[in-house]
This record gives sequence, structure tokens and C-alpha cells, in this order.
Amino acid sequence: MTNDMKWAENIARPVIAGFKAYSARGASTNALHMDANESPWSPPPAGPRESEYNRYPAQQPPSLMTRLAGLYGVPQENIILGRGADEAIDVLLRTFCEAGQDNVLICPPSFGYFDIAAQVQGAGIIKVPLADDYAVDKAGVKKALKDNDIKVVMLCSPNNPTGNSVGRDFVKSLCTDNPDTLILVDEAYVEFSSQGSLSDLLPTYRNLVLTRTLSKAYGLAGVRAGVALANAEIINLMLKVLPPYPVPRPVEQAVMKALAPSAMAVHDSRMAIWQEERARLLTELPKCDLIEKVYPSDANFILLKAADEDKLLADLSRFNIKIRDFRSKIENHFRISVGMPEENELLLSALGIAPQESKDERVAEEFRTTKETDISVRVNLDDPSSVSIETGLGFFDHMLEQIAKHGGMGLTLKCAGDLHIDSHHSVEDTALAFGAALKKALGNKVGIGRYGFVMPMDETQAKVAIDLSGRPAFVFNGDFPTENVGPFAAEMCPHFFLSLSQAMGASIQIDVTGDNTHHMIEACFKGVGRALRPAISRGPTTDIPSTKGVI
Ligand SMILES: *Cc1c(COP(=O)(O)O)cnc(C)c1O
Repeated sequence: MTNDMKWAENIARPVIAGFKAYSARGASTNALHMDANESPWSPPPAGPRESEYNRYPAQQPPSLMTRLAGLYGVPQENIILGRGADEAIDVLLRTFCEAGQDNVLICPPSFGYFDIAAQVQGAGIIKVPLADDYAVDKAGVKKALKDNDIKVVMLCSPNNPTGNSVGRDFVKSLCTDNPDTLILVDEAYVEFSSQGSLSDLLPTYRNLVLTRTLSKAYGLAGVRAGVALANAEIINLMLKVLPPYPVPRPVEQAVMKALAPSAMAVHDSRMAIWQEERARLLTELPKCDLIEKVYPSDANFILLKAADEDKLLADLSRFNIKIRDFRSKIENHFRISVGMPEENELLLSALGIAPQESKDERVAEEFRTTKETDISVRVNLDDPSSVSIETGLGFFDHMLEQIAKHGGMGLTLKCAGDLHIDSHHSVEDTALAFGAALKKALGNKVGIGRYGFVMPMDETQAKVAIDLSGRPAFVFNGDFPTENVGPFAAEMCPHFFLSLSQAMGASIQIDVTGDNTHHMIEACFKGVGRALRPAISRGPTTDIPSTKGVI
């Protein structure tokens, strides 16, 4: 396809192509701003001046755009950010569809807002229903494109509500065969799919438009942020239509926090759980007599056909569980969102499916951000299978792994710290966040137990006693023969456990003797893991591994 400079303007609504964008000032600078009729005062209650709530934000806040470019792997010039993917869809149609003149093509059953956005804009709607198995009717779509003038093809992949994905090759062929039709693929659920995003195709196909959202996989539905990804010409035209200042400062702050580099490990581990739980529901739901058919899913929801719709709804409402009723669009069909393990457990028991195994896991997450460090921690006291630790300090990672392994817990921990200064803040703040997460996960167990362990390692011996009394205290006896192990300062070992004891509300006593600093530190971490193991175990607390170490 030729890449003449004005192709997008030529297919946009003439009025949009013709005007200059409304010139909102955009972000404040360090000038004395007397240009936008803003209040010179921050709103009460007197908050930090940096909140800048009294100043208009940038139309597309730069820090957020940088982060989103990283997240989606596309240059900023190919991104437009608004109040959800919904707004991006609305703006796309308002930019390109002349009311009463241009048409869109949709493939129902699909995302309901496609239809509404098209009607609000006054676009004609040409429908090519999905085939019996809910795959896109490829021949039907191609024929409709031949027979009609269509401005935007609106696809959704994975499709809401059917859960299946649209094939990559089909999208490519649509883009190639219809260079002046926009091919929109709404990828609101693509994070859940094994097929992956089509964003790598953007440089090749000028007419491909993708929408992505932070509402689903990243848990930010209440914040309202989503994007369209497309050719820069399309984005520039859409920016003219996007209402002024669509990204409020609190939204910017909330998104930056949720997408902080340290938080990504938590998103990853949640995604793994989500996919596991989807697989579990796909296996378990068909066992319910009230359900006739369960459809496969690439998303975080499952479409099903009820065998007895009234009883299904009655059983669920007894447990106050709400699912999405699609009967007005597809006879007897309902959509269920995949929840947390314990929520899915409730769903299955409401449907009379006996739980396979208890998924009642003690999990806690802790996020801690300061000027020096940015940390996320997720502990799972009942599933030690997932351990992933990244602090930028290899030796420290290895030590934290010892606590997880010997303590028998799952631990996802990521710390981005000021290591260019030294390791002090990273080690201390990691201990504080880890301790807080352990305290949360242990819940009411804190305050009832005393545990101990003697950890021999070659010439070294560490004696560890822990009292989960709720009162922090720390005693350390030991002299390290050297000041460092690689870049790790030996003094940070007792400092780590001091901070851990404070954050956990635990008394920790360590006596360590030996000739090798590496061994001595490792024995301390292993010993603390071992001492924590009975506290964490749900079995009787009498299984203390050694009598020698008990207080
Ligand atoms: C949920 C959903 C959206 C909404 O995204 P927002 O960013 O919350 O506006 C968009 N498309 C589909 C298919 C959805 O299911």
C-alpha cells in the first residue's frame, strides 16, 4: 500500500482534518503561570504542593506516555491515552465516521459498546454475525467489505463475550486488502491470551488500530485509563478530537504506581494464578448439571450455555453471586468472570461442584515506594512453588531464596533501589516490606508462637530463635571475619534481620559462629527460614525441627 502523507486525513471526517487542535495550554512548567486562569493555590486540605491539583495536566502526560510506550512496546507517537479503551473507540469513530454517511462493520455477538459508539456517532452499522462456533465469518466479512463502503471494521480479540481470538493472518489480510478502511482490533483481554498482541504489525499496516486497557489485567478499572495504538497520522487526528485534559492527575499517579517496575512481578504472578484458575473453571464447570456447554476462553471470563437457566440463577443468587446475563443476545448464555481462587471456590460450591482441594491460601502483598527504593513483595505461605527474587544484588537474592526455601513459602520480590549509592536502602527496605507482608500473611498467628532452629553449615553454626510475639526485638551475636561478601556489606546481615523483626513485630535472636563470612550470613538466612517454617506451617506447631534451638 502506498504511504502518501495525507491518506489518513483523506479518510477522516473533513471537518476534523480541517481544523487545528484546540490549544489547551498543557502541563505547567517552572514559569510563573498566569496563562490558564487556574487557581494559584492547591485545593484544601493543604496537600503537598507537588500534587499540582490547581494546574491543568498535560493533554498526554509525558511520564505516563513513556511508561505506556514501554509497557506496550510501541513508540509514543503511536499511542493515544484516554479515559479507558472505551474513549479511544468513541474518539476513533468521531474522527473518521461522518454521521449518516460512513459505515462500520461489526461481528456480533461482540463488545456491546461498538454498537453504541457507532449509533451515537450516527454511523451505519453492517453486521456479519459470528459463525456457529463463534469464529469470525471470514468470507462474510470479506464479502461485506466488497459490497459496501466501510470506514471501520470493529473486531475484538479475544472476543467479549465469546472468549476466542481472531487469527493474526486474517487481520493482516484485511489490512492489506482494504488500505483505506481502518481495521480496529480491541485487545482489552490480550494479556490473558497466548496469541499475544498484534502491536508488532503496526509499522507494516497503516490502517491497523488496536485498543488496550489497564482496566482488566492491571486491575485499574476504577481509575479509567486505556489507549489506542496506531499509525502516527491516525493518532494525530484522534488527538484533535480527544476532549481537553482527559487524564486527571490522580489517574496519572495511580497508573504510575500500579505500573511501577517493581509491581510488574506481582502482575505476572497474578496473571499466572488467573490462567490457572481459568483452566480449573474450564475443567470443573462442565461437571455442573445446570450447564450444557462451556466455551474455551483466551480471556479472564468464560461463556457458558445453561441447561437449566432458572435453577442456575437461583443457585447463584443464594450465594449472592452475580454473573453476566447474555440471554437477550444469545439464548441461554451467561458469562462468568474468573475470580480469585477462593471466589471461584465459592462459585463452584454454589453450583454444587465439590471442591477438589482447598485453595484457601494465605497470600499477602506489600508495596513500598520511597525516594530510595521501589519494592513489591508477594508471599504465599501455602504454596512454595513460585520463588522469584530480583533486588539487583545477586548475593542478597540468593539469601532471600534461602529464607523462602527453608521457610517453605512462595516469594515474589522485586526491588528497584539506589544501588548506585550502596546497598543499604535496598536491603533495609526489602526487609521492611518483606516483614510487613509476612505479618499480613500470618494474620492472627502472629503473637502465639516461639520457634527456633540450629543451622550447621561446614565450620559455621547459626542458632536462631524467633518469637512471634508482636513485639519487635533483635539480638545478634557474631563477628564476621571480613567486611564484605562481594559487594554485599556483612553488617547489612544483622541490619536486615533488625528491620525484619521491626516490620514483622517479631523478636529475632541470632548467634552465629564461623570462619567464613559467606557461610555465616547464609547460615543466618537459612536458620531464620527454618525457624519460620513451623510458624508458617498449618500443621501442629509441635513439629519444631530441633530441640536444641528451642527457647
Ligand atoms: C472492558 C472492555 C473494554 C473497556 O476498557 P476500558 O479501558 O475500561 O474503557 C474495552 N473493550 C472490551 C472488549 C472490553 O471488554
